[in-house]
Amino acid sequence: MLRFAFKALWRLLRLAVRLMVMVLKPTFGLAWRLTLGRSVAYVRRDWNDRGVGRSQLRDPRWDTLSGGAQVENPLPLLHGYVWCDKVRGEIGHSCAHGPGPHNIKVCMLREDNTRLVWRRLLDVAGPDCRLESG
Ligand SMILES: [Zn+2]
Repeated sequence: MLRFAFKALWRLLRLAVRLMVMVLKPTFGLAWRLTLGRSVAYVRRDWNDRGVGRSQLRDPRWDTLSGGAQVENPLPLLHGYVWCDKVRGEIGHSCAHGPGPHNIKVCMLREDNTRLVWRRLLDVAGPDCRLESG
């Protein structure tokens, strides 16, 4: 009898936890995405591009291929996508190739960004893979 009660309680507890996760996961996920969306990063068209702009960005990830000229970098860099009309500042992009706004690929450098922004980017993109590769 006690065992049965214990089992029922356990099952109830598991159900409660599962429900809680179901409710909390999207809530926290949304909150996190909003925080990330609000964090504005400094971006460049390419790592050696002198122009730096500020923009909200989407989909940060490690990639060796730059946007625009599609230059292959020897080391993976943190890249993301921005709308060219939302970038404040001068980055190496002209809207010459067609009607905008354009979804352009940009790269982020650690030295351009604050530690907080960088940490948020890494939370989404994954840890700095340059450290692993040596
Ligand atoms: Zn453009």
